[in-house]
Amino acid sequence: MSFQHRIEQGLAERRAADAYRRRAVSQSGSGREISLNGQRYLNFSSNDYLGLSRDPTVIRAWQSGAERYGVGSAGSGHVTGFTTAHAELEQQLADWLGYPRALLFISGYAANQAVIATLMQNNDRILADKFSHASLIEASMHSPATLRRFQHNQPTSLDKLLQAEHSGQTLAITEGVFSMDGDSAPLAALHHACQQAGAWLMVDDAHGIGVNGSQGRGTCAAQKVKPELLVITFGKAFGLSGAAVLCSESMAEYFIQFARHLIYSTSMPPAQACALSAALQRVIAGDDLRQQLQQNITQFRNGLADSGLQLMNSQSAIQPVLVGENQAAIDLARHLSEQGIWTSAIRPPTVPPGTARLRITLSAVHHEQDINHLLEVLNAVTATPGE
Ligand code: PMP
Repeated sequence: MSFQHRIEQGLAERRAADAYRRRAVSQSGSGREISLNGQRYLNFSSNDYLGLSRDPTVIRAWQSGAERYGVGSAGSGHVTGFTTAHAELEQQLADWLGYPRALLFISGYAANQAVIATLMQNNDRILADKFSHASLIEASMHSPATLRRFQHNQPTSLDKLLQAEHSGQTLAITEGVFSMDGDSAPLAALHHACQQAGAWLMVDDAHGIGVNGSQGRGTCAAQKVKPELLVITFGKAFGLSGAAVLCSESMAEYFIQFARHLIYSTSMPPAQACALSAALQRVIAGDDLRQQLQQNITQFRNGLADSGLQLMNSQSAIQPVLVGENQAAIDLARHLSEQGIWTSAIRPPTVPPGTARLRITLSAVHHEQDINHLLEVLNAVTATPGE
């Protein structure tokens, strides 16, 4: 099949499955409101859980960082792209989370690829929660290790896989807060199962860091669990982008020697590292923002209790409404957009077939009346959305 034929077939399949993806053009970036394709909406679709993407102190830190260091790092961290701003941020993150080392990456996607690609060898195995993020699954599939998946959030299912005869090393993988369901992993039980079997645990806490735990230290800290590898990302509660891997001294050195995603890629702009240090200080002092977010989550869940709509088992900022069919999710998202509310219809392959959903995300920047408006519109929708 020619490239052209393959492309046309792929696009036709997406259309036929009501799964065709389109990007809306935003004129305003993230925030409480968003301008998309020339229209203004209340924004219930961003991962800016604490509203830090527009925090004036963080913005000023980026500006003064750019004046000091320039706008780009101009090289890999192994050449000249590792500045005092990067080094200080790594130390601050390690101190905050109680790990010997933190290593910065340009994105969570790259961090997950790097950890798995660098660590795993032939005969090893990866045991991943069934709902793990695409970046974890893709890296696992491309690694020389074998990949098995355990039932979502079920330590007994992981335990069963751990008991199977195996000669190589085992890495178990889960998330702190799941990106499409919003529920949290039972980390203590998962880590205990790993320790009994001599396996290591890797936790991707992209959606829990900054939000859960005291001073926003994340889902692991909230559950008093210290996985061997913790990945945090800065595109959500931190309001920026980038990621860090928290680990032991020797593991960090190992990644610096062998992680191709670090060695052969331009490091994040130093100004971004400056902004991230400012965001970290705001996260640490952010009990006010976390309380506001929690209040918004409670208002949302209580307000839909009698709606007939199916909420998921989530206490986090991610509050999906389960719809089922792809077209119904698209119709519901469109209906909300007509009422000035922006949400995302999430469909397979991002979620399992038959579980298309409206992914609503709440933020500390939402006002009580914003959520009231969302609730009014949702409560007016029949139990069979899309009709
Ligand atoms: N892990 C999880 C759980 C995520 O939800 C995401 C992004 N949505 C990533 C990793 C990738 O992070 P980044 O956006 O920084 O590449």
